[in-house]
Amino acid sequence: MDLTSPLPPRTPHDLIGVGLGPFNLSLAALADAVPGLRTLFLDAKPEFRWHPGLMVDGARMQVPFLADLVSLVDPTSPWSFLAYLRAHDRLFPFYFAEQSHLTRREYEHYCRWAAERLPNCRFASPVRAVSWDARTRLFQVSLPGGRTVPARNVVLGVGTAPVVPAAFTALHTAGSVHHAEEYLGVRHSLSGASDVTVVGSGQSGAEIFLDLLRRRGDAPGPQLRWITRSQALAPMEYSKLGLEHFTPDYTRYFHGLPEGVRERLVPAQWQLYKAASADTLAEIHAALYDRTLGGAPADAVILPGTEIEAARPGPCGGLELHCRHLQTGSAHTVRTDATILATGYSARRPALLDPLADLVDWDQQGRYRVDLDHRVGLRPDVTAGLYVQNAELHTHGVGTPDLGLGAHRAATILNAVAGRTIHRLPARTAWTTFGVPRQSSAWSEASALALTPEP
Ligand SMILES: Cc1cc2nc3c(=O)[nH]c(=O)nc-3n(C[C@H](O)[C@H](O)[C@H](O)COP(=O)(O)OP(=O)(O)OC[C@H]3O[C@@H](n4cnc5c(N)ncnc54)[C@H](O)[C@@H]3O)c2cc1C
Repeated sequence: MDLTSPLPPRTPHDLIGVGLGPFNLSLAALADAVPGLRTLFLDAKPEFRWHPGLMVDGARMQVPFLADLVSLVDPTSPWSFLAYLRAHDRLFPFYFAEQSHLTRREYEHYCRWAAERLPNCRFASPVRAVSWDARTRLFQVSLPGGRTVPARNVVLGVGTAPVVPAAFTALHTAGSVHHAEEYLGVRHSLSGASDVTVVGSGQSGAEIFLDLLRRRGDAPGPQLRWITRSQALAPMEYSKLGLEHFTPDYTRYFHGLPEGVRERLVPAQWQLYKAASADTLAEIHAALYDRTLGGAPADAVILPGTEIEAARPGPCGGLELHCRHLQTGSAHTVRTDATILATGYSARRPALLDPLADLVDWDQQGRYRVDLDHRVGLRPDVTAGLYVQNAELHTHGVGTPDLGLGAHRAATILNAVAGRTIHRLPARTAWTTFGVPRQSSAWSEASALALTPEP
């Protein structure tokens, strides 16, 4: 649907979602057909797309297919991945494929299938602003053409913005370096380069380095370089119990920690959410092994523990990257023709919130204060609810961008908006006890006995 299709004009919606990435799409799916609940989800794009700049051939999801829009809350939903497979008569092929980690292409196709059919989703609908109308006690959501739609609650699912390190800001603005999110759009322009540098060792950096290696194959091609500040190319934590950091139990525990502890914890947990998968690292190794058959040169350099302190245009074209090796302190300069920054994403405060800026209770670093229901702290007189998805790393921890927690978070928001349990959520989701164990009476008795001195 687009903006030309009629919006129900003035009747307030219970919930309007801004942005239709996987997280608000999950909320739209879980809210679909809930009796008495009026919801509407708007996205600026003409149709559902999922990170098109990084849709490299064969790239796979990092979560199993059960992390779809709904299944971890309601596996009986008509919007599950299995329902999508049934709609396309692909259940048997999927069953025999035994691939629980979908290709990103198939995940995007599944999400688009849902987005095109959900009656509460509209594309080509950029939200310009959200403001508070004290008279009606409603939010007003502004669309192009001066149209506004009133809502009792708004949930922002506008995604994150690419991070460009300070050393590269001017060059990125000038178009001399590109962020990973633009990779497929600029890949053809790299074919003439004799030296290409990838910066950053997360999953995107690993996938781009691997794609460049594979495209070069055994033929002569550009010298490839992979630079990362991380001390080692350590793989993403994927042990069964380690993955329990991506449960609602851990999120609740993290939310209850003092702010200072949370601030220290998130960067220390980089291997949980920022590293590359062991499979991709193994594929890179295999590609290098194949290329060097019979002692042929790898024409590839991997530089961990290396900070790029400055980047400038080179005297004969290309760029000069001024690097420092963090353990030895030695400086060196790299000359390269093209640079791709796989330097991640972070939450942003969208301009559409400007009219609400004075009503939000920002923390000292200008971020939202977000409660356990994902509701943003507002001035007490603003009775409508503002919720966020994927902007609460600082309050909810490493699971914030994880698709495996998306359905649970969406259901939590929906239950809060409705003021009743629309979707029942499990009381316990991990075997690990995060924090201090609660003393059961049996435990207390046993330990009391153990501690009682003998007469
Ligand atoms: C390449 C890549 C692969 C990933 N793979 C995985 C994975 O396998 N597993 C995992 O757990 N996580 C993964 N992630 C992390 C993350 O969960 C995804 O990035 C996910 O897309 C985040 O969803 P989102 O809904 O927050 O935002 P997005 O997918 O970024 O969507 C935000 C939407 O908001 C819209 N929007 C923004 N502003 C407005 C506005 N003013 N009006 C209307 N619409 C607006 C945009 O058009 C966009 O469609 C991956 C990330 C990347 C970059």
